[in-house]
Amino acid sequence: MDIKTNEHLQKVLIEHIAASENGIAVLDAKDQVIFYNQAFLNAFGLQNCPVYKQSYDDLLSWMFTTGVGMKAHTHKLEDWLAYIHSQYRSAPFRNYEVELVDGRWLLMTEQLNPDGEVVLVCNDITLFKRVELALQKAQIELARQAMTDELTGLPNRRHFMQQLDNECQRAHRYGHATSLAVIDIDHFKKINDGYGHLKGDDVLRHFAEVLTQQLRKNDVVGRLGGEEFALLLPETSQDSARAVIARLQQRLAGENLESIAPGFSYTFSAGVAECQSTPQFCCTDWIRTADEALYQAKAAGRNCVVVYGKA
Ligand code: GH3
Ligand code: MG
Ligand code: MG
Repeated sequence: MDIKTNEHLQKVLIEHIAASENGIAVLDAKDQVIFYNQAFLNAFGLQNCPVYKQSYDDLLSWMFTTGVGMKAHTHKLEDWLAYIHSQYRSAPFRNYEVELVDGRWLLMTEQLNPDGEVVLVCNDITLFKRVELALQKAQIELARQAMTDELTGLPNRRHFMQQLDNECQRAHRYGHATSLAVIDIDHFKKINDGYGHLKGDDVLRHFAEVLTQQLRKNDVVGRLGGEEFALLLPETSQDSARAVIARLQQRLAGENLESIAPGFSYTFSAGVAECQSTPQFCCTDWIRTADEALYQAKAAGRNCVVVYGKA
């Protein structure tokens, strides 16, 4: 390249840097700012900050105390600076995203020159970031919906079965007695017919609440469908599970249900089954045995609990 072309190119590049909408700054080997463009000031809200010959720490401290520019993820300035020092100059070339206090996002590139200068370039990526964050949020919400029963907010059948499967494997591994109760509201069709479907829904929500309030730390409750619920009681023998269900029945009998309808009450039946220790016994077997016990509880007149194999 001849000298003239070289000079022209330098002029073009310098003009580009000055007018660029990408923020650009250069820090020398002692970490003092020796160059910055207007876009750099705008990106971090540094228009009123003395920038030239300031150190990187000075700029960061100014942003922290003035409440502009980069969002600090710690409450103490020293902790934030310590975090930034742990990353800064850690590679010849780095790309990272920075969240700003005003909600914008920047993509920063940090390039380390062999003589020790650092060139910082920042790009506004707010629009892309908003789309990315909205997609992430939607994904989390979809995953939540896929696991949750809309009416009661309880884990749905699919989610409950996953947890039952995990617990079945755990019970086999550790040999703990672990119980499952399948619970079905009695004569629920009559409740719907007598008070209307919406009141029926209120009863389902009420029952979900009663079950949830009764839970211990590791218990899991789910709605299997319709007026059928399930309660997983880890490290609980079938006899203790029966006692838990009996307490639930007592509690439900003492509930004031005037808000659903004057003089209203309802009951449920339950089948309890312990996880069997044979390795072939899987979570569908577990549900099936609890279901059989539930069937027997219904046949025995309802409002009672039957333990599988003990009818
Ligand atoms: P049993 O004591 O034998 O369990 O009788 P039941 O009437 O409770 O059982 P059955 O299976 O005959 O009726 C269940 C009813 O639950 C029928 C169905 O319309 C109703 N149901 C299912 N899902 C919902 C729901 O989400 N909301 C309401 N309100 N009703 C529901
Ligand atoms: Mg029923
Ligand atoms: Mg049913």
